[in-house]
Amino acid sequence: MSDRAFDAVVIGAGAGGLCAAARLSHGGLRTLLVDDHDRLGGRASTEEIDGFKVNIGAIAIELGGVFEETCRLVGAPLDIRAPEPASGFYIDRKFIDVGRGGWSLLLGQLTKQASRILEKFADARSGNLPDGRQSTEDWLTSYTSNVTVHAIFRNLCAAIFACNASELPARAFLTYFTSKGAFKRFGFCPQGTVGVWNALGAAVQHNGEVWLSSRATAIHASNGTVEGISVVRNGESVRIDCPIVISNAGPAATVALAGEAAFPAEYVASVRATLRPAANIVINIASRSPLMTHPGIVTFGKTRRLCNMANLTATCPELAPPGWHLYVAYAVPVPALGPFDAAAETELALEDLREQFDDFAAARILSIRVMRDDWPAQRSCAGYDLPRETGIEGLWCVGDAVKEYGNGGTQACAETAKLVTDAIFARAPYAHARHKM
Ligand SMILES: Cc1cc2nc3c(=O)[nH]c(=O)nc-3n(C[C@H](O)[C@H](O)[C@H](O)COP(=O)(O)OP(=O)(O)OC[C@H]3O[C@@H](n4cnc5c(N)ncnc54)[C@H](O)[C@@H]3O)c2cc1C
Repeated sequence: MSDRAFDAVVIGAGAGGLCAAARLSHGGLRTLLVDDHDRLGGRASTEEIDGFKVNIGAIAIELGGVFEETCRLVGAPLDIRAPEPASGFYIDRKFIDVGRGGWSLLLGQLTKQASRILEKFADARSGNLPDGRQSTEDWLTSYTSNVTVHAIFRNLCAAIFACNASELPARAFLTYFTSKGAFKRFGFCPQGTVGVWNALGAAVQHNGEVWLSSRATAIHASNGTVEGISVVRNGESVRIDCPIVISNAGPAATVALAGEAAFPAEYVASVRATLRPAANIVINIASRSPLMTHPGIVTFGKTRRLCNMANLTATCPELAPPGWHLYVAYAVPVPALGPFDAAAETELALEDLREQFDDFAAARILSIRVMRDDWPAQRSCAGYDLPRETGIEGLWCVGDAVKEYGNGGTQACAETAKLVTDAIFARAPYAHARHKM
């Protein structure tokens, strides 16, 4: 069965795929978005557990960047509520609100070496960065041995990049904190994060279709040019012929869908050699009594594995049934970029939670998810990204394995979608398309 009714196909309705499909559709290309799940959002979606809206991955949606710009461009309402204060640190069971003082206020309280570290941040801001081989931990060790400072840097790496400070290039850490959004402004979606994806999905449908529970089984290409995909929908295989295919399935799955022989050998080799999926452990917690009063996200000081925790119902009470508080805590295993014992790592995170909060014993654990392997926290850790071009004409990748250097999270995925769709619209014969509507 053949259907030539689409100008473009996007495989995967994660953050990158949805932003790409919404931009293509808005720009005048009739777009088909397919996803193998029955809901939008991929690793940033939301599930319902006993009346609680429980997020699978992303909770904090950054404001003021490419993602917000995408929503505005395509007319998707962005239902986000910002906690105030948004972030802080929870060290020795005390909340530290660094507010506008940021790094200097935090480090100034902890180490005499603060000014040396801050100087390096200033250097990074002016483009003077370490090379990509030195880890964040080694970089920090050359300025301070303070245990609390090391613990905070580890937990920041874990919270933002889902890896340990020993695994993240210092260049990526400094790039993120000096030239990216760095979660300075963010909010939670009161419908669960899936709410923002549903709004983008509706925008795609203005000039296209969204097929859920539909798995792409092949990408067709010949002589180095993409020709379309096959997708299983309602139990039937459908072939969609079209000259643009954007894959949000990750580079490794994209190679498997088209077959290695379709790609230049160097691309296949770099997919094998570069990707470093990063893991984390997500613990969703419901409690009748408040565990913490800070409304946003706190990053912990010295812990075993726990890195940060969000108080969701303080800002969005509709995420839980009346009378309940909803929190989500994150832990990052050691190692996060290699094999680990999930049960042992989870137990260490639970020990941390018991130690941090007296009322944790009375709380209810709604779910514990270990994000790893082909359903990871980041499909490739910052500093280990691949290009968005695949070496096949018309076939592109978006998502968190093809991020700009040092970026992370859904914002980074939205940026990959903007870069790919801008490149598509800049090329003939699509240069006119954005003006068609
Ligand atoms: C626990 C956790 C917490 C996080 N917290 C935050 C946060 O607070 N803020 C933030 O910005 N980011 C956060 N992130 C990161 C963010 O969630 C991810 O970077 C982002 O969601 C990844 O999106 P993606 O574009 O790579 O697509 P993915 O989420 O990987 O989606 C791809 C989709 O494609 C589908 N697919 C794959 N193959 C096929 C196929 N053959 N046919 C059809 N469909 C297919 C998949 O099933 C999936 O639905 C967090 C991640 C995790 C795991």
